[in-house]
Amino acid sequence: MISVDANAKINLTLDILGKRDDGYHEVSMVMQEISLHDTLHLEEIPAGIELEISGSDLPADESNLCYRAARLVKDTCNLKAGVRIRLEKRIPVAAGLAGGSTDAAAVFKGMNDLFSLNITEEKLCDLGAELGSDIPFCILGGTMLATGRGELLKRLPDFAGVNVVLAKPRVGVSTAWAYKTYDAGYTGRHPDNEAMIKAIEQGDVSGVSNLLCNVLEGVTIKEHVIINTYKQAMLKAGALCSMMSGSGPTVFGIAPEETVAEAVAAQIKGIDAGAAVFTAKTVGRNRG
Ligand code: ATP
Repeated sequence: MISVDANAKINLTLDILGKRDDGYHEVSMVMQEISLHDTLHLEEIPAGIELEISGSDLPADESNLCYRAARLVKDTCNLKAGVRIRLEKRIPVAAGLAGGSTDAAAVFKGMNDLFSLNITEEKLCDLGAELGSDIPFCILGGTMLATGRGELLKRLPDFAGVNVVLAKPRVGVSTAWAYKTYDAGYTGRHPDNEAMIKAIEQGDVSGVSNLLCNVLEGVTIKEHVIINTYKQAMLKAGALCSMMSGSGPTVFGIAPEETVAEAVAAQIKGIDAGAAVFTAKTVGRNRG
């Protein structure tokens, strides 16, 4: 049996460049792995795919991304043996934190190890992209510039060990809905990814904080104003910045120190007892 941690991600930036003929949006975004994670335990069984989930009422059936990832590996590699997957869910669902994608990535990596399949990282990413645009990032991790529909990745220097606070209100947001609702005539601020990459290269935490930008934030805030309440509360409690991750509704703040992160978390819990609140750290590709 092997166990794999499946880390969540936040977006330091998210830009939409246009709509493509295949229906996807062309994006350009800086993605960051964080230490908030699910854990998956994988073991070999004689045949089939079995999935058990704790910590969430997500269906443990063929619709689950873990199940679909396992089937794709089995089919691609013509694997006769089966796999039992136990998923301990901690990452909130439909939250903008790539919870489903990171579980699928963990199944790809875990089965590759468990069955000594020797699939290269590059090939794993290709397989992952068949299931979901964020999965290649979740396979590689660290800090990356993601373009295309999110699957084309350029590695950036690690931006590890930075304190973040995450707060998800009770609502969930569908990624498809947010992209559909985004108005092509958007005239608001766009991220400056070049400047963001420079700030990351310099390990400049306050520079990164000042450059956070997500063009989907306004779309989701219009529907869920509580996101704005969380943002203001985080700033008031000492966060350097705060922004919605992905299509939301999770809001994250960057804190200069762990004690500030704890204070920010307490502030959010104080204003909304229903919030799911976590403190975490950014993670490097070398697990720094
Ligand atoms: P992203 O940031 O990639 O847009 P998200 O964090 O907004 O993702 P997820 O938590 O990945 O959203 O969930 C999206 C949908 O995928 C959920 O509504 C859920 O029904 C489905 N899903 C399938 N498998 C899983 C899984 N293992 N964990 C979470 N969601 C899953």
